[in-house]
Amino acid sequence: TAFYPEGGGQPSDVGKLMVDGKEIDVEYVEKIDGTIVHYTKEAVEKGKEVEGIIDWERRYSLMKHHTATHVINSACRKVLGDHVWQAGSQLDVDEARFDFSHYKPLSEKDIREIERVANEVVKEGIDVVKEFLERSEAEKRYGVVLYQGGVPEGRIIRVVRIPGVDVEACGGTHLNNTSEIGKIKVVRGERIQDGVNRLIFVAGRERVEELEKREERRLKLIVEKLQEKFNIKNVEKDAGKTLQRIAKMFSVPLDKIEDTVEKFMRDIPKAERIEARNVIDACEKLFKEWKRSRKEKKRIPSELVEKILSDYSEDYKGYKLVFVSDPNISKDYDSIAIAEELARAERIVACIRDDKGLVFSASQDIEIDLREIARKTGSLLGGGGGGKERLARCGGSRLENIQKAMEEAKNLIKSQLSG
Ligand SMILES: [Zn+2]
Repeated sequence: TAFYPEGGGQPSDVGKLMVDGKEIDVEYVEKIDGTIVHYTKEAVEKGKEVEGIIDWERRYSLMKHHTATHVINSACRKVLGDHVWQAGSQLDVDEARFDFSHYKPLSEKDIREIERVANEVVKEGIDVVKEFLERSEAEKRYGVVLYQGGVPEGRIIRVVRIPGVDVEACGGTHLNNTSEIGKIKVVRGERIQDGVNRLIFVAGRERVEELEKREERRLKLIVEKLQEKFNIKNVEKDAGKTLQRIAKMFSVPLDKIEDTVEKFMRDIPKAERIEARNVIDACEKLFKEWKRSRKEKKRIPSELVEKILSDYSEDYKGYKLVFVSDPNISKDYDSIAIAEELARAERIVACIRDDKGLVFSASQDIEIDLREIARKTGSLLGGGGGGKERLARCGGSRLENIQKAMEEAKNLIKSQLSG
C-alpha cells in the first residue's frame, strides 16, 4: 500500500480505494502488529483487487511539514546549542509543532534567527537521503543524535539524512529535496513546561502566504476597532509579528487579541482622540488607559460610601447590615473595592449586587465565614462562590434569581451572627 499509517507524529494518509471502478473512501490507516489496516467508509468485498489512491495534496503538505520539522530541529541546535533535544512533534496539514528541551524561554530574536537558518537550508536545496542501515552501523556513523524522535525497533533502521544539516532515525514520509519545502514561517514560540519549548510553524510557500494574508486581515480589523479612539499614523508591515507583540503586551493568547482590544475599548472612559505612531503604540496607550481607569474604579469616593450607608443599611443585634440591591450603585466602580471600603467600619457586614452576582464583606471585628454564604448563594445563581472569610463573591449565569439569592444571603448572615 502507498498509504502511510499514523505514526511518529505524522497523521495517516487518507484517500480512496478503487474497487470494480467504484470509489470507496479511506478515512484512516493504522499499523496493527505489522499489518497496515485501512478503515474505509464502506465494506470492501473479500478477495477483490483494489487500487489505492492517496490524497496527494494533503500528503505532500504533510511531507513538507515533516521534512521542515527535521530542518527546524537542526536550526534550533545551530542557534541555541547542541543541548537542544527533541521532546516531541506533531504534524498537521496546516501546521506543525516541534517541542524541544532548552533551559530558557525563546526570545523573539531566537525565533527569527531559527526561522532564518531554517529557510537558508530550504534555499540551499539539499537532497534528502533515505537509507536503511544496520542499527550498529547507523549508530557508529551518526551517534545517538539519531534517536531524537524516539528509538525504533528492529535490527535494520531507516535513517533520514539531510547531509550537513540533520540525521534522524525516522519512518515518516519525506521530500526528496529541501527546496520543495518552499518556505518556513514560525508562527509562534511557547513555553509548554519547565525546560521545554514549542515552536509552531507552517511549511510550504502557499500555506505561508495564506497565513500571512490571514494575519494581515486580522490586523486590519484590529486597526479599524482602534481607530474609534486613536489616530494611527502607520500600520506595521509585519502583521504576524505585530499580533504576537500585542498578545504578549496584553498577556493573552494570540487568538484573544480582538476580544481584549474590544473589552479595553469598552472600559476606558470616553475622551478625546489619542495620537499613535503605529498599532503597537496605540495598544500600549490603550492598555495604560485601561489600567488607569481600573485604578480609578477602585478609588471609592466617601460620598458613595455615605450614600450606601444611609440608603441601604439596617441595624441587626448591634451589627450594621448593608444590602445594596440596586446594581446601578456599583456600576461605575469596582464592587469589591466598595465592599472593602464599607468593611473598614466597625461591626458591619455588606452584600453588594453587581453584574456578575454578589460581593460580600465583613469588618475584622466579626467572626463570620462568608465563603460558605457565597457558595450557597452562588448555587442559586447556577454558579458558585468563594474567596476569603471576610471577603467573598458569588456568581452564575442565572442572574434572574439574584433577588432570591440576596434574601438567602440575608438569612444566612443573620443566622451566622446569631450563632
Ligand atoms: Zn521524522
